[in-house]
Amino acid sequence: MALEKLEKKYFGTNGVRGVTGVDMTPVFALGIAEAFGTMLGEGKKVGIGRDTRTSGPALNAAVRAGLMACGCNVIDFGVVPTPCLQYLVLDHNLDGGVMITASHNPPEYNGIKIIEADGTEMGDERTIQLEQTMIQNKSVVSAWDKVGDCTEEPQARKLYIDSIVSQFPKDCGKGITVVVDPGNGPAAATSPEILRRLGCTVHTINAEFNGRFPGRLPEPSAEGLANLSATVVATGAAFGVAHDGDADRAIFVDENGTFMDGNITFALLASYFSGKYPGGVIVTPVSTSGIVEAVGKKYNCTTTYTVVGSIYVARTMRELLAKGEKVIIGGEGNGGIIYPRHQFCRDGGMSAATMLGFVSEKTSPLSKLIAELPSFTMYQEKRKTTRAKEIVAHMRKYFADFPIDERDGIRITRGGAWGLIRPSGTEPLVRVFTESQNPAEAKTLLNEILAEIKPYLE
Ligand code: MG
Repeated sequence: MALEKLEKKYFGTNGVRGVTGVDMTPVFALGIAEAFGTMLGEGKKVGIGRDTRTSGPALNAAVRAGLMACGCNVIDFGVVPTPCLQYLVLDHNLDGGVMITASHNPPEYNGIKIIEADGTEMGDERTIQLEQTMIQNKSVVSAWDKVGDCTEEPQARKLYIDSIVSQFPKDCGKGITVVVDPGNGPAAATSPEILRRLGCTVHTINAEFNGRFPGRLPEPSAEGLANLSATVVATGAAFGVAHDGDADRAIFVDENGTFMDGNITFALLASYFSGKYPGGVIVTPVSTSGIVEAVGKKYNCTTTYTVVGSIYVARTMRELLAKGEKVIIGGEGNGGIIYPRHQFCRDGGMSAATMLGFVSEKTSPLSKLIAELPSFTMYQEKRKTTRAKEIVAHMRKYFADFPIDERDGIRITRGGAWGLIRPSGTEPLVRVFTESQNPAEAKTLLNEILAEIKPYLE
């Protein structure tokens, strides 16, 4: 897996990103679209969507052109969250999708995510094949009688909204006030509507499409959400929800406006579904807090760990389901949950609706429910090094007496603590995580690992 990741030239785990007019240009987007169209073949159907960035319309025109030139029929969904496009690819039985977005990156960026027919992001092997098609100029444009066409789907957002609303009890939001901050991104036209349709009173901020992002940056950081927090307190809302630039993630603040860590969010949302489907399987990367596993255990749910990256979570969920396992929820500690009864991708709108479902079944406010969760202390550090492989080899030997999980770096369990030593796939650095319910135990393990890797650092 790690080797395949290194072989990719343009694409990371979440598509390709670049600065508009520098490395993310219509010519580059055209090349990607032609390569994807060539891989799919003439007569195939491809959905496209974009976020609200200023460069979106220009890149959209290039992507349309490339796909049609290679014989694909394009359905343009317009400005939509990434999970909306993914849902429609699956729902409309399309052969693929192209999302034009730079997710949480600053306004000057844009990017492209390729979606497979099953609604998940393109995997490593096929992405390498796509890049090689580009690099070796192997794209094939069609003859005059095989060129594709383009239609629009004005119902795109409505279909996605309907599909989420149908997953929850009617009017479950009645009497509950929620504040939504879509950050001037595509969720401005979906998340407030989803929550309203579920019966909530919804207040919004930054809820107009605007690719200059005047309200806050596309990454929903604690500072960026100060306005959301204040509005939650002022309106007496049960919680506030914000999205990143393409709304595959949802970040929450509680009724006091306090920023919620993504691991806490995941634990709450996992407990909602664990309660509904006890004895199921939760899927999450090796870097996620043990709080999720602990919450699942209360309902006899087990947790399966994967390589870091939502695409690996989604694909593992599919594999486990194919084997007959009862997979109930997947997700990461960064605010994106995957609900397999709806679709196999991170979905910010679905996360917002799930939080509402959770709150609607409780009598206590969110802050109290969070305080009742088991308490874990996690440390996260990163160190510069070009010798990550040697570090992994050394740590494998050093922790030889303890259970080791090597699916992504080295994850060890010792007593009540776990530690993860994980080389970055994109930068010359190694990340170190430790966690325990006993803060001193987590700190001791952290210090020990940092001391052991010191000789290998820059
Ligand atoms: Mg995103």
